[in-house]
Amino acid sequence: MNCPYCAAATTKKRAKKTKLGYATFFCSQCQHSFNERTGTPFNYLAFPTDIVLLVVL
Ligand SMILES: [Zn+2]
Repeated sequence: MNCPYCAAATTKKRAKKTKLGYATFFCSQCQHSFNERTGTPFNYLAFPTDIVLLVVL
């Protein structure tokens, strides 16, 4: 999966999954973490959805 931040293909799948079971990835190029959700507002955040919801709530 290509990095949504820098479009590098050098991303690694992480063992950690989000609360909803989405796979997470880490880009060794720009040090960003992201997940497989595309087209959602959460896609551009560096934090897991559960953390974002905690902050929002
Ligand atoms: Zn990147």
